[in-house]
Amino acid sequence: MSVSVEQSKVKIADFRHLKTAHPCLGMMPQWDFLNFLEKQAKAYPGFKLIMEAEAKGLIHQKGIVKGVKVQSKDGALEIDAELVIGADGRSSVMREEARLQVRDFHSAVDVLWFRLSRNADEATIPFFQVHNGRILVLFSRDKYFQCGYVIPKNGAAKLKSKGLPAFKENITNVVPWISGRMDELKSWDDIKLLTVKIDRLRKWYKPGLLCIGDAAHAMSPVGGVGINLAIQDAVAAANILYPYLDKHNLTSTEPLKAVQKRREFPTAVTQRLQRFMQDNILKNIISKEKANHKIPFLFRLFGIFPFMHFLTARWFGLGIRQEHIKIPDIFGN
Ligand SMILES: Cc1cc2nc3c(=O)[nH]c(=O)nc-3n(C[C@H](O)[C@H](O)[C@H](O)COP(=O)(O)OP(=O)(O)OC[C@H]3O[C@@H](n4cnc5c(N)ncnc54)[C@H](O)[C@@H]3O)c2cc1C
Repeated sequence: MSVSVEQSKVKIADFRHLKTAHPCLGMMPQWDFLNFLEKQAKAYPGFKLIMEAEAKGLIHQKGIVKGVKVQSKDGALEIDAELVIGADGRSSVMREEARLQVRDFHSAVDVLWFRLSRNADEATIPFFQVHNGRILVLFSRDKYFQCGYVIPKNGAAKLKSKGLPAFKENITNVVPWISGRMDELKSWDDIKLLTVKIDRLRKWYKPGLLCIGDAAHAMSPVGGVGINLAIQDAVAAANILYPYLDKHNLTSTEPLKAVQKRREFPTAVTQRLQRFMQDNILKNIISKEKANHKIPFLFRLFGIFPFMHFLTARWFGLGIRQEHIKIPDIFGN
C-alpha cells in the first residue's frame, strides 16, 4: 500500500550530507500517527474502531480466550474474537487477566513530563541537554515543547519536597533560554510523573490471545524506540498470522509462538541497550549533582566520526530487525 503523510506532521532529521542510502529520519507525535493509521485503516471494509471503550477482561471458554469484555460509553459489550491482540500498553489488563508471567528488569530512572510554550523558530527535532547532574529533553510539538526531566527512580517525592521554585531553577540551569517560560508551570499538577518500566513477558501468548508492544515488553523512553518496536510487532504478527486468520484455522498456538520467536530477539537486544544506557549513563549523570560530566567515550566518538550519526539514526529508525508488510492488500496496492 502506498500512503502519504501530511508533511506538516512529520519532523525530519536530515543526514543528506552523509550521502547514505536512507539519509532522513522522520518523527511524528504519537496522536498524529494514530490518526494517520485510523484514516488509512478506515478504507478497509472489515475495520471498525470503537472509541472511549475500555477492555475490562477476557472471555474464556475451556481455557481458551474467546473475546473481550468491554465497557463503552454506550454500556457493557462482549466482543467475540478468533484472536485477541493485547496491545494495551505497559499496564496491560490483557496480560494480567491472562496471568502471563512477567520478567521485571529494574529501571534506574523515572521522568517528569511537562509542557512549555515553543516559538516558531525554535528546534523542531529533539533537544537533549545535560548540566550539573540534570538531564532535560525537549520534543517539539509545534506550539509547545513536551519536556522530559530525568530523575532517579522513586525520586519524585524528594524533589517535590524542595518546592516548585527549586524545580524551576533546576530547569533554567539546564536550559537558560527557556527561563522566561517558567510561569507556565503554575503548580505540581502541570508536571506529571511517568514511571519508567522495563519488563518482558516470558510467554507472549496463550490460546486465543497474543500480546504485542508494551503489553508484551514495556520499553524505557531511552532512544525513543518503544513505538517503533510496537509497530514492528504488529507487522510481524500480521505477516505470520494472516494465512491462519484468512482461513479461520488458527487452531494451535504455534503461529503465536512464531510471532514471539521473531520479535523477542530485537526486543531483548533493545531493552539490554536501554538498560545499559540508563544504568551506566543516565543514572551516573543524575547521581552526581554539580559534577562536571564528561560525555562518555562512546558518545564522543559520534562527534569525531559523523558517519556514526547515521548508525544511530538507523538504529532509531529501523531497529535491530526490520519488518515489512508482506500480506496481500485487498486494494491490490
Ligand atoms: C516517559 C516516557 C516517554 C517515552 N517516549 C517515547 C518516545 O519519544 N518515542 C518512543 O518510541 N517511545 C517512547 N516511550 C515508550 C513508548 O511510550 C512505548 O514503548 C510505546 O508507546 C508502546 O506502544 P503500545 O502501542 O504498545 O502501547 P501504548 O502506546 O501505551 O498504547 C496502549 C493504548 O492502549 C490503551 N489502553 C490501555 N488499557 C486499555 C484498556 N483496558 N482498554 C482499552 N484501551 C486501553 C491506552 O489508552 C493506549 O492508547 C516512552 C515511554 C515513557 C515512559
